Amino acid sequence: MNKVSDWVKTQIKQDQIDRYLENGKDFIDDDYINRTLAENSSNIERKRVEDILQKAHDITLMDDADVAALCNIKDPELRSLVFKAAEEIKQKVYDNRIVMFAPLYLSSKCVNACRYCGFRSDNTEQKRSVLTQAEVEEETHVLASKIGHKRLVIVFGEHPESNADYIADCMKTIYSVKDKVRNGWGQIRRVNVNAAPMSIEDLKKLNDAGIGTFQVFQETYDHKIYAQMHPENTLKGNYQWRLYAHHRAMEAGIDDVAIGCLFGLADWRFDVMGMVAHARDLEKHFGLGPHTLSVPRLEKAIGTNFSFIKNWVNDEDFKYLVAVLRVAIPYAGLIVTNREKPQTIRELSNIITQRDADSRIGLRAYSEAYRQGLNTAADCQKLDTAQFELGDTRSLDEVIREAAQLGHIVSFCTAGYRCGRTGKKIMTLLRNGTEGCFCKLNAVLTFQEWLDDFASEETRRIGMELIQREMEEIRSKVPGTYPHALFTNFNASYQKLLQGERDLYF
Ligand code: SAM
Ligand code: SF4
Repeated sequence: MNKVSDWVKTQIKQDQIDRYLENGKDFIDDDYINRTLAENSSNIERKRVEDILQKAHDITLMDDADVAALCNIKDPELRSLVFKAAEEIKQKVYDNRIVMFAPLYLSSKCVNACRYCGFRSDNTEQKRSVLTQAEVEEETHVLASKIGHKRLVIVFGEHPESNADYIADCMKTIYSVKDKVRNGWGQIRRVNVNAAPMSIEDLKKLNDAGIGTFQVFQETYDHKIYAQMHPENTLKGNYQWRLYAHHRAMEAGIDDVAIGCLFGLADWRFDVMGMVAHARDLEKHFGLGPHTLSVPRLEKAIGTNFSFIKNWVNDEDFKYLVAVLRVAIPYAGLIVTNREKPQTIRELSNIITQRDADSRIGLRAYSEAYRQGLNTAADCQKLDTAQFELGDTRSLDEVIREAAQLGHIVSFCTAGYRCGRTGKKIMTLLRNGTEGCFCKLNAVLTFQEWLDDFASEETRRIGMELIQREMEEIRSKVPGTYPHALFTNFNASYQKLLQGERDLYF
């Protein structure tokens, strides 16, 4: 018996699964999902699509039959109605903002054997390590002070060396970094965690360390395919332990939880239905759905042969499924990552609410690349510790410049959880449009801060034009959306920011 296998045996707490089951069953009923998809697969007329989309404007979770009908649309004209509604809903709930983050990989040791992942335990081509706290700090210096990120998602394999105590220590290390930069300081202000499902006791440790969002992707909701992808004798082989990871997080006091699927494993229609069922069960138990939705699509990984994959999702279907999710779970943020190519992200930019840029997905990849003078994420692909390959390797400056040219303001806002605007509070505010008012002000403040501290001259010029338009819009909505007192405070903060004060928010 070795230490690792002893640790594995203590991780799953069956009573923390059983308390949510109904008649011994979880909330994913595969037969019901397949039947609903089949029953809503033909004669989907324009009138029905228009009626479904009209309901989506109420910003409430969509009925299963309606989601199934949208999933089954193939006619490009009808699909374009869904895209249009998805753009309108993004605009209504999240305006023209795109929140920016970066992933930070801190461990690649893993006890699991997910067949599609470069970190799986039997992949002999993968180099393994777990960063020391000094290395975590080094990575943070580059992210916060050289690139200019404010929000991270930290990513871990599942292993005793990267357990909850280690993750909490990493968060404390990251929050402690504060470096002088051009006009202010570089600092990470929100740390989200993408890690294996944990017990309520472990999740409380992450909550105490100041977690933003807890992110776990079910990979696929299809029980049978899940079992094929995740060997039964591994921790991840327990479908239900994973399925209720977010329920446990909410019980532990973490109310911003993120769900997702790895598209390519199962039929994407099934998994979109699964995500909606997941949101519904969270609403049922906690009165609150997921904070964000993630839609990773399978990418090539070192040492991994993908001949077993039968459900690759093509670009057209991928973009469409993102639009369906936007209207089906309309209150949730929607994240598309650099796994996708620039063109795909560009075409989805009116629908998504978060993306990453300048990401390096290898271990120590930010500091190592910086040491070696590899200045772009593309150069960093040469480092050989990555989990998979990236599609968009442009710099943060380039991505922000393009976004501004397209009329999107890139927000580095991290105010939400620091002001207690999380969970039910933020959902209520989002639905009635109030959160948007704070978000717009915070987007302007944080965008200005980034332009002053990190932008190239050209990006700053284009960014400032956008800021001027945003300022005019805000001014035109006083006192309707922005009461006089709030607007006066905002102006005062904006002036202080120009003079070098930092981290100002509402
Ligand atoms: N180990 C934790 C887990 O599995 O939940 C968290 C880290 S894992 C590296 C994060 C996510 O990477 C997984 O949930 C999966 O969706 C995604 N992933 C794994 N292999 C991938 C691949 N080949 N292409 C794209 N995404 C992948
Ligand atoms: Fe490990 Fe996560 Fe990769 Fe599976 S997806 S092998 S659990 S790191």
